[in-house]
Amino acid sequence: MHPKSAPLPAVTDDRIYIGLGSNLDDPMLQIQTAVTALQALPHTHVTACSSLWVSKPMGPSDQPDYVNAVVALSSALAPLALLAACQAIEQAQRRIRTRHWGPRTIDLDVLLFGGEQIHLPTLIVPHPGITERGFVLAPLHQIAPDICIAGKSINHWLEKCDRNGLQALDQPILAL
Ligand code: ATP
Ligand code: CA
Ligand code: CA
Repeated sequence: MHPKSAPLPAVTDDRIYIGLGSNLDDPMLQIQTAVTALQALPHTHVTACSSLWVSKPMGPSDQPDYVNAVVALSSALAPLALLAACQAIEQAQRRIRTRHWGPRTIDLDVLLFGGEQIHLPTLIVPHPGITERGFVLAPLHQIAPDICIAGKSINHWLEKCDRNGLQALDQPILAL
């Protein structure tokens, strides 16, 4: 008799993934600036960067198209410390909150933090929008093609999501 086959190992990826988006004041430069600021955080390294992608706005459509990217980090920062650092970067780049899903100079979302599941009032990880948003999944897939989210492969989510005019820009990978 064959031994019972071992369960497939979960994809192990202890990296942290941050989603970036901008549609005001030179979005490509805003994203570059934010990635440089992430790289400058203590005990933190940017280990991979997606291409830049253009996407149609989610929510209110009377705003410019977005530029999006995803970066991978290794960091010794705890999840809430990283969220605070991301929010400080948003403030440094003069993000002003007007309306829900309104235009912004920069948005930094903590998409994944290794395999952690976090349900705090100010931090939910995996980010709740991750499985539905093409502008997150397509750049994430570039740098983490084998990752699993909510028990399914990223390809599963990518096939189902609405790409809504999503286009990769003919830009080199972000320079660090
Ligand atoms: P969405 O979260 O749907 O992408 P948004 O990025 O426009 O929308 P924000 O106004 O930037 O939303 O953030 C609202 C709040 O979301 C923040 O104050 C933060 O505390 C909370 N939040 C919860 N989980 C996360 C996460 N994983 N990454 C970033 N912020 C988060
Ligand atoms: Ca967001
Ligand atoms: Ca956000």
